[in-house]
Amino acid sequence: WYQQTLSVVVVGASGDLAKRKTYPSLLKLFEENLLPTDSIIYGYARSCKSHEEFRRHLLPHLKKTGTNEIIVKDFLSKCYYHSGKTYGDKSAYADMIGDGLVPFEESTKNTVSNRLFYLAVPPDVFGESGVVIKTHGMSTTGWTRVVIEKPFGRDLESCDALLQTLSENFEEHHLYRIDHYLGKEIVQNMLMFRFSNSFWEPIWNSDTIESVVITFKEPFGTDGRGGYFDKYGIIRDILQNHLLQVATLFAMEPPKNEDADAIRDAKVEVLKNMEILSLQDCLLGQYDGYSDDPTITNKDTNCPTYAAIRCKINTPRWTGVPFILQAGKAMDEKVCDIQVRFKPAKSFPSMRRSSKNFFENAPAEMVMRLQPDPCIFLNLNIKSPGLSTMPTRGNMVMRYEDMPNLSNPDAYTRLLLDVIRGKQGSFVRDDELRFSWQIFTPLLHDIDDTKVRPLPYRYGSSGPANREAWMAEMTKSVLPLQASL
Ligand code: NAP
Repeated sequence: WYQQTLSVVVVGASGDLAKRKTYPSLLKLFEENLLPTDSIIYGYARSCKSHEEFRRHLLPHLKKTGTNEIIVKDFLSKCYYHSGKTYGDKSAYADMIGDGLVPFEESTKNTVSNRLFYLAVPPDVFGESGVVIKTHGMSTTGWTRVVIEKPFGRDLESCDALLQTLSENFEEHHLYRIDHYLGKEIVQNMLMFRFSNSFWEPIWNSDTIESVVITFKEPFGTDGRGGYFDKYGIIRDILQNHLLQVATLFAMEPPKNEDADAIRDAKVEVLKNMEILSLQDCLLGQYDGYSDDPTITNKDTNCPTYAAIRCKINTPRWTGVPFILQAGKAMDEKVCDIQVRFKPAKSFPSMRRSSKNFFENAPAEMVMRLQPDPCIFLNLNIKSPGLSTMPTRGNMVMRYEDMPNLSNPDAYTRLLLDVIRGKQGSFVRDDELRFSWQIFTPLLHDIDDTKVRPLPYRYGSSGPANREAWMAEMTKSVLPLQASL
């Protein structure tokens, strides 16, 4: 691919995602010499701008990356802009392709020209964008790939409608559905960490693991973006996609091989065996003052800004182990991690009756922290150092920041490189998406229909007052119900 021509079209280039993520990630790839030498990047949107105006619009966001000014200038010289009346404007597309992409592709003398369309637009224009890409944009000599962003629907029905719209113009191998959590270092490391260290496999199951808690917390509220958030809520925004994706990678059986489909087949098996969720499985919260956000029109909103959900995976490996997914806005810290709690050792506490309480209350645990500072650590029981024979806690830590020659590129940069390389393993396949909505849709409809009231919690706190009691109750080993997908 490096010796082939690459044309990138960022659809919705005037927007927030394009300037904050898509273009800075493309710049990073350019800086690392990971974009083909013969590359061109067209921005497309409805806002009318000249090429120069668009470059000026991008500049402050590219500067924030800290990249050398000369490299930024070189990169911008590859960036162009084209506007149309709508996202389905055939003549605007024909002009952009005919007067921009094709002459460039022909000028490079490469026999293969590839095209990447990045849809940084709301999903209601995926359909019309798809039609013009299909009719005017497909490469005739190389591949054509289309990147799309969440939200991939708001329930199973709308997800199906979106899948149908996209399938009218593209096949699955064209589509790269981004969940940027799949581009985070710890998540990308999951396969290597689990399957290349022989000691994990015998204990990565319900014999040894008591519970798995996957947490996302951020210390700020909607900050004027509540209009969007209020239509989705924290479950659709974080749990159904990001945290569920992390859970499936954690829980999956070893894939048959490293191919994208083998990995996604293994993830789908987890989802097929996950019980459908109901209100009994969750704790909902809303931070005080949420509806004061002026962009939230429904001041009586029951939209959850905190949710904890107990998932059950009925496979031989995981039966009885609760997987808790929890996420909240306006909380006490910024963190995202996977906390794995191991069962207390069976024989040692009875040998050491004096310390039984200690062992029961402090089982060993492993934490895989995705952000802010990626690391993996084990909290283990050790003998107190020195003459004491009493137990205490010790840590074994692997911090990425301590690693030599650390390069920790943004998740979008990694994922864009995967798109260019044609590696679909870290992108969400259509069946994965359907199964994930099947699991969550009844719960989401119950919340929408019954207008259940989330429990209030203080801005900057650790969530609703009964969170700890709920967590203690839910992390007791669970027996499976009959219903699973
Ligand atoms: P945005 O700024 O609201 O929209 C991107 C561009 O699309 C706008 O500049 C606008 O361009 C056009 N647009 C906006 N609303 C439209 C509408 N109703 N009909 C037609 N065109 C419209 O959105 P964004 O934040 O860049 O996000 C783009 C997509 O990625 C969204 O689906 C969003 O949910 C998703 N996403 C965003 C982020 C993020 O960090 N921003 C993260 C994850 C996912 P013109 O008016 O110039 O045509």
